[in-house]
Amino acid sequence: VVAEIISVGTELLLGQIVDTNAAYLSEALAELGVDVFHRITVGDNFERVTAALRSAKARADVLITIGGLGPTQDDLTKEAVAEVFDEELALDEPSLRFIEELFARRGRRMTANNRKQALIYAGGRPIPNPHGTAPGALLEKDGKLALSLPGPPREFRPMVDGFVIPYLAERASGRRMILQHRVLRVVGIGESAIETRIADLVAGVNPTLCTLAHTGECHLRITAKAPSPEEAAALIAPLEAEVRRRLGEAVYGADAMDLPRTVVAMLRKRGRQLAVAESCTGGGLGALITSAPGAHYVFLGGVISYQNAVKARQLGVDRALLSEYGPVSAPVARAMARGVRERFGADFGVSITGMAGRGEPG
Ligand code: AMP
Ligand code: MG
Repeated sequence: VVAEIISVGTELLLGQIVDTNAAYLSEALAELGVDVFHRITVGDNFERVTAALRSAKARADVLITIGGLGPTQDDLTKEAVAEVFDEELALDEPSLRFIEELFARRGRRMTANNRKQALIYAGGRPIPNPHGTAPGALLEKDGKLALSLPGPPREFRPMVDGFVIPYLAERASGRRMILQHRVLRVVGIGESAIETRIADLVAGVNPTLCTLAHTGECHLRITAKAPSPEEAAALIAPLEAEVRRRLGEAVYGADAMDLPRTVVAMLRKRGRQLAVAESCTGGGLGALITSAPGAHYVFLGGVISYQNAVKARQLGVDRALLSEYGPVSAPVARAMARGVRERFGADFGVSITGMAGRGEPG
């Protein structure tokens, strides 16, 4: 099954809001094994929404629109879907009653344009929305499934979890596939260097392997598609072993085991303790380490030795070393690490020195 997501809203194009709904839906669909090859974002314009829907309809089995179900003129998603599927919109009495009751409960006057929210595809049906006024709408026609979902995340997410995913799962039962990921975390080798070592593996289809550059590290994501988690894991295991064989210790962890967690876990296992001396990071390294569960066992603390005087006084860095090599140098970094290790009684001292905050205050 191939699905396509069409996010409708000029505010998305202007960058005023981030399309968190599409990300949420993409993740849920991936988990279900539904392929999403395209995602479209289009403004609140009838012609452009219609054009987007036509191209999606030509490519995908399932079209899922986000937003534009509200009562106002610029909410035109259902009108555009109806146009593309040559379908009528008809007033859905139960939806209208639900909206009327909602207004009555809130003690607010319902304006005429709110009736628009109860318009549903004549040959389709509404999707109940317990968290808002606008129901979603569903249409099966021309061998396609069109789902129209509301924009507000607190209405959208429950509808995805409570209706869309179960509905698609039910529809696909029998030939249901799941997607399973394994993320290998790599430090010390750049993305391009990694790629040259695993290029032949990247060409695979199931499982797939791709590299993702992150700040300070690179991730290798292995994704397998299979009818069950066990079968997916069996597809992933040999590829993971081969990647690990080629990259060796550069693969420091997997999945949720990020660098701080891995460092803390390794120290804990060995019964060792760590102290840090930081200059330009201003405590950032300590913050990273203390973000990992179990840090209190292994992390003693640190010194933020931003100025040379502190490097000298608190860490015992030789002033001659500072003037000969400058504070941003390997000899000073070594002296900082040694200083903090000795003064804190740690097994390991780690130091960072570099340039930051050199400009004039604005
Ligand atoms: P709409 O149904 O298009 O009138 O959208 C109602 C509200 O939902 C907007 O004002 C946004 O705050 C929010 N919204 C709409 N689309 C999205 C989206 N794709 N992701 C996150 N929030 C959205
Ligand atoms: Mg809108």
